Amino acid sequence: MKAVVKYGYGAGETELRDVPIPEIGDDDLLIEVKAAGVCGSDIAFDNGQHADLLNPPVILGHEFSGVVAKVGKNVTRWKVGDRVVSDNTGEVCGECYACNTSDFLSCPERKGIGYGMDGGFTNYVKILGKTLARVPTSLMRIPDCMSFEEAAILDPACNGYMAVVQEAKVMPGDFVAVFGVGALGLFSIQAARAAGAAKIIAIALSSDGDDRFAMAKHCGATHIVKSDLEDAVAAVRAITNGEGVSCVVDAAGVNVVMKSCLGIVRTAGIIVKIGYDHHPYNSTLDPFIDGAIALKGHFGYDWVSWRNVMNLVEAGKFDLKCMISHRMHVSEFREAFDMVRRKESIKIILYPEQL
Ligand SMILES: [Zn+2]
Ligand SMILES: [Zn+2]
Repeated sequence: MKAVVKYGYGAGETELRDVPIPEIGDDDLLIEVKAAGVCGSDIAFDNGQHADLLNPPVILGHEFSGVVAKVGKNVTRWKVGDRVVSDNTGEVCGECYACNTSDFLSCPERKGIGYGMDGGFTNYVKILGKTLARVPTSLMRIPDCMSFEEAAILDPACNGYMAVVQEAKVMPGDFVAVFGVGALGLFSIQAARAAGAAKIIAIALSSDGDDRFAMAKHCGATHIVKSDLEDAVAAVRAITNGEGVSCVVDAAGVNVVMKSCLGIVRTAGIIVKIGYDHHPYNSTLDPFIDGAIALKGHFGYDWVSWRNVMNLVEAGKFDLKCMISHRMHVSEFREAFDMVRRKESIKIILYPEQL
């Protein structure tokens, strides 16, 4: 089968390769991939970043859905033909504090599917029985009404949902600001809408482009602030009658926005950071004390996020379809990655090649 293989830690060390279909053991499952989403992290891996998470050579693709194609002889919970989506837990130790408190994605030993172990930019993915035993919810059934491509991008949707609803606990009537209008930012905006936020302010650069600003509005943003053209702090203060917002989601992935986050969050508000940037912050932390402000680092989701986002999609209150801007094939991954780099896409779905 054709697979997008990250074969080395270095930048650009990613290529299309012919690899064998995985063999499975008696407790494992084999998933036939139907759709896989390209994530900003895939581009970071291709760039040579997040090397600590990578285990090359490895098939990329951590956002994927498909059908159960084969089950090991000890598997009773799943049968061939089941429509499923993986939360890419991959492999976890089952012993650490995170694992014992069901926070599996934070397990320091975790090997995520699509970077620590083989993922979904190909035809078949093996799901380990030992992981299904430890984390039965790492594989979920797709509701009948949901397409494979929608299911494939549940991962970032659930991430945004957890940031806004479960971490920041946004209430109906709250003011929310989101830095960044990439997929995570846009899904955070949708989550804020679902939570009943009264004002949702999307903050980004004019270079992000009109399409993304239009999408931010479609997702529920009530206000758009272009931070290179106007003073974001003054703009948000004006929009919120001077109060500031109860929750800021930093999905921008540049640490310089932290200063603006502190400028726009209200007293006792919360900043949820989901965008990565390894650069130093280089500013005083005193405003956290003066404003009693919380900072929450956030990565991923839990079972509740998945359940609730699926319920919202079924109820027509969360839009996954609108986020899919391009559909391509695994063999076109290079072009797809470059489109993400040029910010020409929102979510790209890669389909496996014909065997
Ligand atoms: Zn991702
Ligand atoms: Zn663990």
